[in-house]
Amino acid sequence: MTTKVKCPVCTNKRLLDMASGDQAEIIIKCPRCQNIIRLTFRKNRIKAKVI
Ligand SMILES: [Zn+2]
Repeated sequence: MTTKVKCPVCTNKRLLDMASGDQAEIIIKCPRCQNIIRLTFRKNRIKAKVI
């Protein structure tokens, strides 16, 4: 099962697909708005924050 992660800044609805897991932290650059987003995935909840 994967979860679609939206960009918190722009209208990019598919920043990436994340496979479910216990804990993960990913830093990704949005291809649309060029912001650096830190995604923290914990217990099936995703927090997206611009850094
Ligand atoms: Zn974006």
